Amino acid sequence: MQFSELGLSAELLRAIGEQGYTTPTPVQQQAIPHILAGRDLEALAQTGTGKTAAFVLPILQRLSNPLSGQTSSTLQKVTHTAPRVLVLVPTRELAAQVLESVRLYGAHTGLRSLAVFGGVGINPQIQTMRRGIDILVATPGRLLDHLGQRTVDLSKVQTLVLDEADRMFDMGFIRDIRRIIERLPKERQNLMFSATFAAEVRELAHTVLRNPAMVEVARRNAPAELVTHTVIKVDQDKKRDLLLHLFAAHGWHQVLVFCRTKHGSDALARKLEQAGVRTAALHGNKSQNARTRALADFKSGKLAALVATDIAARGLDIDSLPRVVNFELPNVPEDYIHRIGRTGRAGASGEALSLVSGDERIQLRDIERLLKREIETSVLPGFEPQHTHSVPRPAGGRPSAPNPAQARARTGAGNRSGAPRPARSGGSGAAKPASHHSGQRHR
Ligand code: AMP
Repeated sequence: MQFSELGLSAELLRAIGEQGYTTPTPVQQQAIPHILAGRDLEALAQTGTGKTAAFVLPILQRLSNPLSGQTSSTLQKVTHTAPRVLVLVPTRELAAQVLESVRLYGAHTGLRSLAVFGGVGINPQIQTMRRGIDILVATPGRLLDHLGQRTVDLSKVQTLVLDEADRMFDMGFIRDIRRIIERLPKERQNLMFSATFAAEVRELAHTVLRNPAMVEVARRNAPAELVTHTVIKVDQDKKRDLLLHLFAAHGWHQVLVFCRTKHGSDALARKLEQAGVRTAALHGNKSQNARTRALADFKSGKLAALVATDIAARGLDIDSLPRVVNFELPNVPEDYIHRIGRTGRAGASGEALSLVSGDERIQLRDIERLLKREIETSVLPGFEPQHTHSVPRPAGGRPSAPNPAQARARTGAGNRSGAPRPARSGGSGAAKPASHHSGQRHR
């Protein structure tokens, strides 16, 4: 299928061509006709599937050509200065990326757009809004600030997009979202994108969407197939030294390292820097400028490591990393999938290496259940764990504690990944997949 078959305008096709895209991705093929026809939509699609263009392109089309796919009741004169489209996103990074897409794809449409998010001054946002915009991309907190100050007018919104709806829940934005939705006109088109259909996402879909079209696409890469998963067992207080050892021994570059907390990310980034590994930390307390710079330096290869929290890394447009390191396992197993989605993309192989201490065995077990497979484990000489923690035996009967006889030390010299070669851990196969749960997060 070609983009031209989707009924997009010449201005949009030109912009798409300039991006070098030849064929629409599955989510684009499925979603664009529904959105052009004015229908509500519920889409299960992750970052990396082309979901942003899947809603941005038809939205631009409808805004620039009010006749396209609309019923006569929605026909209006194009003289608005208040936004006609509102895209709600969970993070500043995603807001900036969605805005970038809107501007790229809308380059020849003359439509005006703005992203509002916290961490930067509010006044420039107010000034731009006053000049008139068509598409507003916003994080919930900053949008509520604007609503409180009456510096935004949402009375003309015809289309609402909830992007990464599952993350909105994870980050506790649901009440903010409901407050924002109350301020929108009742008659509007609603589009919801989510990486999971967890119960709370379904519930929101139920209350917000009207007779939605459903679109569901597979992940662009199935993580278990393209990514090598490895666990190194190590005590918590030895993790930093072990990580430094790995950087020094293998000359690693472009490694995305995940920590659970902002404080932990800062401390680890400092330690790596002190040891001569060019590193930046990426988390919610960083200014927007610092984050943008860190990301650019990481992408260009100037930084060897980027230490990030789950939330800060969410939605980042970084593809095809050779390696992702979990300095700590996430509390919520789905986050493991999000984390490793950064590596092994576009057919390239990648490595997901987790440093796992004794008190993280439950998280490891939950991740293995979600992946429906066991992860290879090893220990490194000089970093053998001293502390053992017992863990309750799961219902499926798989022993959670490692089998010491099989967790042999390997040096990993000369293997493909540069990480220690894994040894099988004890166990008799993963148990049933875990159901989604939103555990307590510490960030
Ligand atoms: P997203 O899932 O929206 O984060 O998009 C992931 C990446 O895919 C982005 O870098 C887009 O520029 C790129 N992309 C989107 N649509 C296409 C397409 N039809 N062909 C090739 N790349 C695309």
